[in-house]
Amino acid sequence: MRAWAPGDPGGGVVLQHLRLSCGSPFSTCLEVMRFLLLYATQQGQAKAIAEEICEKAAAHGFSADLHCLSEREKYNLRTETAPLVIVVSTTGTGEPPDTARRFVKQIQDQTLPGDWFAHLRYGLLGLGDSEYTYFCNGGKIIDRRLQELGARRFYDTGHADDCVGLELVVEPWIDGLWAALRKQLVSSPGAEEMSDGLHVAAPPTSLGMDPGGAESPRLESRLQLLHLDEPRGEDLRISARNAANTGQAAALITDSGPSLTCSVPPLSQAALNIPTLSPEYLQVHLQESPSQEGSHMPVTSAGPVFQVPISKAIQMTRDDAVKTTLLLELDISETDFSYEPGDTFDVLCPNSSSEVQHLLRRLQLADQGGHRVFLALMADTKKKGAALPPHIPEGRSLRFLLTWCLEIRAIPKKVLLRALAEHASLGPERRRLQELSSRQGSADYNRFLRDAGAGLLDVLLAFPSCHPPLGLLLEHLPRLQPRAYSCASSSLCHPGKLHFLFNIVEFGGDAPAVAQRRGVCTGWLAALAEPLLQPDAPASRTDSRKAPAPQISISPRVTQPFQLPSDPSVPLVMVGPGTGLAPFIGFLQHREKLQEQHPDRHLGATWLFFGCRHKDRDYLFREELRRFQKLGVLTHLKVSFSRDAPEAQEGDTPPAKYVQDNLRRHGPQVARVLLQESGHLYLCGDAKNMAKDVNDALVEIISREAGIEHLEAMKTLAALREEKRYLQDVWS
Ligand code: FAD
Repeated sequence: MRAWAPGDPGGGVVLQHLRLSCGSPFSTCLEVMRFLLLYATQQGQAKAIAEEICEKAAAHGFSADLHCLSEREKYNLRTETAPLVIVVSTTGTGEPPDTARRFVKQIQDQTLPGDWFAHLRYGLLGLGDSEYTYFCNGGKIIDRRLQELGARRFYDTGHADDCVGLELVVEPWIDGLWAALRKQLVSSPGAEEMSDGLHVAAPPTSLGMDPGGAESPRLESRLQLLHLDEPRGEDLRISARNAANTGQAAALITDSGPSLTCSVPPLSQAALNIPTLSPEYLQVHLQESPSQEGSHMPVTSAGPVFQVPISKAIQMTRDDAVKTTLLLELDISETDFSYEPGDTFDVLCPNSSSEVQHLLRRLQLADQGGHRVFLALMADTKKKGAALPPHIPEGRSLRFLLTWCLEIRAIPKKVLLRALAEHASLGPERRRLQELSSRQGSADYNRFLRDAGAGLLDVLLAFPSCHPPLGLLLEHLPRLQPRAYSCASSSLCHPGKLHFLFNIVEFGGDAPAVAQRRGVCTGWLAALAEPLLQPDAPASRTDSRKAPAPQISISPRVTQPFQLPSDPSVPLVMVGPGTGLAPFIGFLQHREKLQEQHPDRHLGATWLFFGCRHKDRDYLFREELRRFQKLGVLTHLKVSFSRDAPEAQEGDTPPAKYVQDNLRRHGPQVARVLLQESGHLYLCGDAKNMAKDVNDALVEIISREAGIEHLEAMKTLAALREEKRYLQDVWS
């Protein structure tokens, strides 16, 4: 047995002999067992869970070598002999997060032999949301490919569902991990000796587990039935009675039911399993000299950033529509930004200045908003792998960081609530924060934080005795993500211009403790566009007093292709309700230009399935679509109105309420395009409900029209997806 040294990327060796401290149940044991822990995260969840595993590892006698999957120089799976644990989330249309893209591309190399990873033993935890069509697909892609390359699981794969609360699977999965690791390591320290016989099943309550690797149909959707065992594990246990003895108090108890701040039995009387307190590691130094804040764009963007003026804004819906849709035109003529129809791009957006000001006031830092922030790692921190957050630039003002760099609206994770509890001076508040971070308080956490969309400011306002240090918040607040939008124009039709379409997102106000708000990006864009929407908008004025057009920062996105087939004679089916219509306007404009330029060329049939609520209120691009029809660029337009009284129908056909109803009605034609004419089907818009319903409708259509079983039809649709003839661009 060789000794493993920290920093050894390959880890030819599994066991390290060290004396453990801090009262671990293994403190009499001299062995620390190493495993490699990799994560790929989009919004920070997978990273937070991997860090939690890393922190808990020591208490179980393990040492985790923690890296992001993108840090390829820090690990080497080809030579790795320690067990591998991977936590991976899912993004977009069932893709692995951006940080896993390169890794996935490399392992998907079809020239790799089937025993490439035969020496690897791994356990994988996938994160996802079952309201999306391809649940946990990021994890499933990696899991499947590792298997194909000969790696074997030492522990069942977990599929955690954000729709019902990730912790329902994450917590039992982590609890079961230690026994599985121990069995793997102790029985088989050398990779050569590892065998499939060492595979450990996940805890019996774990409905989100995937023992065989095969799809477990809708297993995840049964999570609601999951009953967690009595508290287990090593997390700090706090009983309500003990709390009083130790100077802590019960949370505020109310007769009128629980709320964000109040608790009711049995939770208010329960012993709590709360997460391990994450060691603080950031030291903040505020310097009074004003920072040079010339640029308004964040400095940590991954790709090239272009500052462009908004040259036009149009409200596409009537004032009485349920949602307001705006179209913005960006002037990209002075930049190198270029796009194809179907491309998406990022808008770099700030948090609302009033919310930032409110947060600064609540943190008693209103006078220091303009101070420059310098961060350093605490010299004596116990945080393993502590590093300065890469998304926080040095020397920018505190207000700049809260405005452009940190997602201050993010729903506080349980580890943050746990840390906030330490900074609440009133016992009832401390207890309630502990409850919300505890395993027993999961239902309340989901109800009053996750479902209500409560952010940090809501929590701090609800718990006035809580005064966290700034460093703690900078450690926990995730990076402010740019928002993606689909190009809604063709540069052939609008040279030097880029159009995009969005709904102004509005939410909140239902839960008493959570303020009514607009979406971070769409609220900001709507405010910027406001003057341009006025009849005497600055952009349309010609006098010398013309106000400068508002500018925004955009960045191209590298994503899965969602593009027109290179051969224009290929028939197309486009499904895009609401703002999902955006890329298809670009497609149709592009085809219009092609038709103009090559009048003799045959263009394939184009079907568009569009849906909205009311014919007269939110039928987007109504005139433009009619024009495309007249030109013959759009051959079949099928529109459904979900909230209008149904119009008289021929025969017994039920009225089409949604795009999927219209798809079913035209099933034979859709099937012909896809199965006989080698056509392409594009789907764009709401990922949560619509994309799933359309998927189901397509399976039904294929099954009926091709006369095959449901399962075969699912496989046919999956094959179309593989061939890139069924393309999705969906979002929530
Ligand atoms: P956020 O502030 O990010 O809020 C987003 C959602 O989070 C809200 O809808 C709400 O459900 C929830 N939420 C957040 N806070 C709370 C709270 N306090 N209470 C309750 N709920 C809350 N959108 C378009 O309109 N047009 C497009 O063309 C388009 N294309 C896209 C393409 C891609 C590839 C992707 C990934 C997304 C696309 N989107 C598109 C979605 C877009 O990126 C944004 O997510 C959307 O505009 C909302 O951004 P926001 O910052 O305004 O909202």
